[in-house]
Amino acid sequence: MQRLMIVVPCYNEEEILPYSIEKLTGVIKNLIKKSKIASNSGILFVNDGSKDKTWEIIQNEYAKNPYVYGLGLAGNVGHQNALFAGLQTAAEICDFSISIDADLQDDIEVIEQMVDEYLSGADIVYGVRSERKTDTFFKRFTAQSFYRIMEMMGVKTVYNHADFRLMSARAMKQLGQYKERNLFLRGMVPLIGYKTATVTYARKERLAGESKYPLKKMLSFAWDGITSFSIKPISMIMAFGGVIVACSVIAFIYTLVSYFMGHVSPGWSSLMISIWFLGGVQLLFIGVVGQYVGKTYIESKERPRYNVEKFLNHEE
Ligand code: UDP
Ligand code: MG
Repeated sequence: MQRLMIVVPCYNEEEILPYSIEKLTGVIKNLIKKSKIASNSGILFVNDGSKDKTWEIIQNEYAKNPYVYGLGLAGNVGHQNALFAGLQTAAEICDFSISIDADLQDDIEVIEQMVDEYLSGADIVYGVRSERKTDTFFKRFTAQSFYRIMEMMGVKTVYNHADFRLMSARAMKQLGQYKERNLFLRGMVPLIGYKTATVTYARKERLAGESKYPLKKMLSFAWDGITSFSIKPISMIMAFGGVIVACSVIAFIYTLVSYFMGHVSPGWSSLMISIWFLGGVQLLFIGVVGQYVGKTYIESKERPRYNVEKFLNHEE
């Protein structure tokens, strides 16, 4: 039987944690009862340097609940890093994991469906929000714009999928091969390329505690996502430079015509043309330099060049 670890990053979640522990323990027990997962399956709570009682709660629970595991990080490293730490730790001890936020805004009812997809051969199962009724208009709007911009930038993401997902141990280990420091997991996981499946659910409201993603963090997360995955902004600078150079040609013709019609003050024509032309050329060349910087940036990530799905080998 396959061993499951549910991975839960927690930052200052004392208010909701007892409830989440109870619910998730129920999920694990139920799956064990149905003989879908091994009896030593469990929930790995990752404490992301919380300042409240989160770690105490995890420790106390660990002492009495055989399904609860804990990973205490030495400081606050942020949601993505905490989740990554949990996944890398889980990869060593289990056959597959499911990551979910501590507030259980993602529907635990579909966990069983995810497990079924895994058991029928999927390496990665994405939880996808079918609707966002409980989110404010603002959150919906910003989220939608975000997915659209990412698409424009050529980054592959799964629409309306956050970090509620199932991963097999080999997928988690493969994820560990991505050496970058700036993590944007929902962009990285689709790069792995193993067999995937999706399950849909309706996202719920947070029952207690506050969102740890206020607008400022949301914007910086989106910006991280774009800049970690795309050097398209550099190409845009270059294209913009090209447009300005083209404009300078028009300006050139215009000033020339004005000059021959005789109603310009002396010096104006040459000034106009040089400003436009030099501005454009500079921008264009910054873009060219940027392309090299961008390439160096991509190289510095040391991402794996390929991931092997299967090796048909007679010697095995
Ligand atoms: N989280 C974390 N470290 C942080 C911020 C958040 O581990 O620095 C966790 C948090 O405890 C929760 C998850 O990341 O389990 C998502 O946070 P939240 O629910 O506040 O985000 P939202 O659902 O509002 O986008
Ligand atoms: Mg939440």
